Amino acid sequence: MHIKSATFVMSNSDVKKCPNEPLPEYAFIGRSNVGKSSLINMLTERKSLAKTSGRPGKTQLINHFKINENWFLVDLPGYGYAKVSKKVKSTFQKFITKYFEERQQLVSAFVLIDIRHDPQKIDMEFMQWLGEHQIPFSIIFTKADKLKPKAIERDVKKYLDVLIADVWEEAPNYFITSSTSGTGKDELLEYIDQINKE
Ligand code: GDP
Repeated sequence: MHIKSATFVMSNSDVKKCPNEPLPEYAFIGRSNVGKSSLINMLTERKSLAKTSGRPGKTQLINHFKINENWFLVDLPGYGYAKVSKKVKSTFQKFITKYFEERQQLVSAFVLIDIRHDPQKIDMEFMQWLGEHQIPFSIIFTKADKLKPKAIERDVKKYLDVLIADVWEEAPNYFITSSTSGTGKDELLEYIDQINKE
């Protein structure tokens, strides 16, 4: 799939106010600074469609982008930013939880993980929660350009081994990406395209 059009539609913190068009939608989520905005810009070939975060944790909203007039890319707030107050954290959790529980149009989530990091509790807990709520998701490993191919293979295997041991019977679907080099772009868009055609 080539992205011919990508337009910002709206931001809000209430799932009930999200666009009511019945288009399939894909939600991108991960820890602050994981490279989510860069990935969205890379996928859409737009320099600043998603705002890369000067101040992590600042964009606490559900952002809808309409792609090729036939699906929504949803940019969800980054989680796990230590400097956000407890109150902000719990408000955040509530509306994200509601988004996942109530959004009928959601086809799949993409959980972004920095390929250089060991499994983090917050990501594990979040993926476990998605699993318990039967919300389909794939992992997107980001910043692959920071590692050599051998190290990528080794670290992804290590990550998935922990995930399987901890939570799952089998590893979830995953993608290896780099916003700097464009690695993974075609695979990811092809994957979305295939699901949209089903
Ligand atoms: P967000 O908070 O998840 O939206 O993360 P950003 O997209 O703002 O990226 C956080 C930092 O990681 C920025 O300094 C980016 O330049 C850097 N970054 C993001 N993606 C990549 C990547 O694929 N490769 C490299 N080397 N750096 C990246």
